[in-house]
Amino acid sequence: MDKTAESYGFKAEIKQLLHILAHSLYKDRDIFLRELISNASDALTRLQFEALTNNDILDPEAEAAIYIDFEEAKEDKPATLVVRDTGIGMTQDEIVRNLGTIAQSGAREFLANLSQNNIDSGDVIGQFGVGFYSVFMVAEQVRVISRSYQPNAEAVAWQSDGGDAFTVLPADKADRGTEIHLTLKADAAEFANAYRLKQIVKKYSDYVRFPIYVAGDQANRRESLWRKQPAEVSADEHKDFYRQMTMDFEDPLLTIHFASDSPVNLRALLFVPRRRERGVLSIRKEPGLMLYSHNVLIQEYCTDLLPSWLSFVDGVVDSEDLPLNVSRETVQNNRLMAQLGKSVKARVLRELKKLGENHPEEYAQFIEEYGPVLKEGIATDPSSVEEILPLLRYHSTHSEEAWTSLDQYVERMSADQDQIYYVIGDSLASARRSPHLDPFKARNLEVLYWSEPLDVFLAPMLPEYRDKHFRNVADAGLELPADEAAPEAALEPLTPEADFNRFVGRCVTTLGDRVTEVRPSRVLKDSPVRLLSPDGQSVEMQRIYRMMGREVDVPPQILEVNRNHPLIAGLSSLATKQPDSPLLPLAIEQLYAGALMQEGLLPNPSDMMPRILELLSIATEAVERSADSVE
Ligand code: ADP
Ligand code: MG
Repeated sequence: MDKTAESYGFKAEIKQLLHILAHSLYKDRDIFLRELISNASDALTRLQFEALTNNDILDPEAEAAIYIDFEEAKEDKPATLVVRDTGIGMTQDEIVRNLGTIAQSGAREFLANLSQNNIDSGDVIGQFGVGFYSVFMVAEQVRVISRSYQPNAEAVAWQSDGGDAFTVLPADKADRGTEIHLTLKADAAEFANAYRLKQIVKKYSDYVRFPIYVAGDQANRRESLWRKQPAEVSADEHKDFYRQMTMDFEDPLLTIHFASDSPVNLRALLFVPRRRERGVLSIRKEPGLMLYSHNVLIQEYCTDLLPSWLSFVDGVVDSEDLPLNVSRETVQNNRLMAQLGKSVKARVLRELKKLGENHPEEYAQFIEEYGPVLKEGIATDPSSVEEILPLLRYHSTHSEEAWTSLDQYVERMSADQDQIYYVIGDSLASARRSPHLDPFKARNLEVLYWSEPLDVFLAPMLPEYRDKHFRNVADAGLELPADEAAPEAALEPLTPEADFNRFVGRCVTTLGDRVTEVRPSRVLKDSPVRLLSPDGQSVEMQRIYRMMGREVDVPPQILEVNRNHPLIAGLSSLATKQPDSPLLPLAIEQLYAGALMQEGLLPNPSDMMPRILELLSIATEAVERSADSVE
């Protein structure tokens, strides 16, 4: 062996991964080629970017391409396969780092998700990005020979049989790029076949931008799908393109393909992925659109075209009006970019609106996935509020299941309603149970449930929508539209006034300065009590602080008591007949704690436990006593 050969151990996770790849996985082995092509394509792209600003590059004239060649097995010689690119190449340091000593996130994720079950069914591999190492599914020996684009770097070879170690040594390679030489396992000899290889290239890599030659023939169609007339491209072609572009296994939620020639030349093929989270296998590593000019990729992740609250949109934008030899800085400052961005954004907003109108179920998925991103957009870029609000959807008292848009809410409003009502809750379930809803239900007024953390943040920031102000139903000064038929006005109070006043007095003494006032409620129906904030502000802030994990004193609030509630009637009678009963202060404390909890303001819910136990034992004793007296 060469004197200068150096041996390295693979990183522990990689060893484990290699063992599984080499010994356990027999299905979908063809993805090794997809991984090698994807690496070659990355290397070619990186070289092109380097060439934009650097003239000192080895082999500047070499064609940017990927070459796949093979030799069938014969007699005692195993089959071999070579994948070669003219990309950026690797230096000795890079090869050691990239292929063996740094554990990639993909490998870790893969191992974490691996269970015996999915090894047996064999469909794990397709879902995780194990990248380069997937070659050990088909190869018993791998030799990588690479030469960096840097003119004075030396060629280097890396080799391994997929065991615990790899060897790095100097190599002979005059031209720029990387060659992966595989000695195929006996049971993988099928891959040394032109027809099979072309088939795999078509399946996974048809839209790779660089030509892929299998035994000299170009095997991928390399088509700029986005430059075709949208009407001439089928839904399946769009899906295929999306899958190859992202390696996302799910179809996109929305596909937008359009072309225009004024005010700027623009061809775009955009997608909204079904999930916000990118899989580890995803080829698209960052947010941003691929920006092309004259069919040349000038920016791989362009974030200047769409605002951050639309950064989940992925795809290609191509404009012939952009100068070809632009550097990143000029792309950013280009007046044309502003125009392109405006057109792209307008189109995306229009298509989202259409999706909401025509496919509410798909749109519901969109909202569940991206609603928080849109709301963040309002928080970080308040000037966009008018664009974002119509996209949002909320649950409301109108329907248990369906989402409603603000437009639908406004359209359902009766002529005399002039505000958009919302109730805040820690969760949808707690918002639905809010005592503040009593008078709204009685009057048939719709209330939006604002139960996501961002709703709480945004509540004080939202201006109005279609001239209607947003209004919190817990607002102490809230005047409801007059309604003679409102049931709470019609009822004969259940609790005699003197008893009720005694109970209210007990609330005041028990709760002290935790309440600013205890008053009879004119609006409660099914709930015994509720808390209102005297000024609104302090409670909003308190909620936000609590969400950020800060403990702040609970601000004093107004306690409203429902004179028509059977529990209040019972407690009021108790306050008159047995003012010393230990039940009274316990019940008042518990009603107060429950109301705080309902508002999402109770600091330590577990503090309620001793009191609840005491209340339970009082209740049990009472039941036993009445059972005894029956006997
Ligand atoms: P990933 O592509 O997700 O980074 P891989 O395991 O496929 O992970 O590759 C690991 C790294 O090895 C790449 O990030 C790249 O730096 C390097 N690499 C792999 N193949 C090539 C190649 N053909 N040319 C240059 N570098 C390569
Ligand atoms: Mg890769």
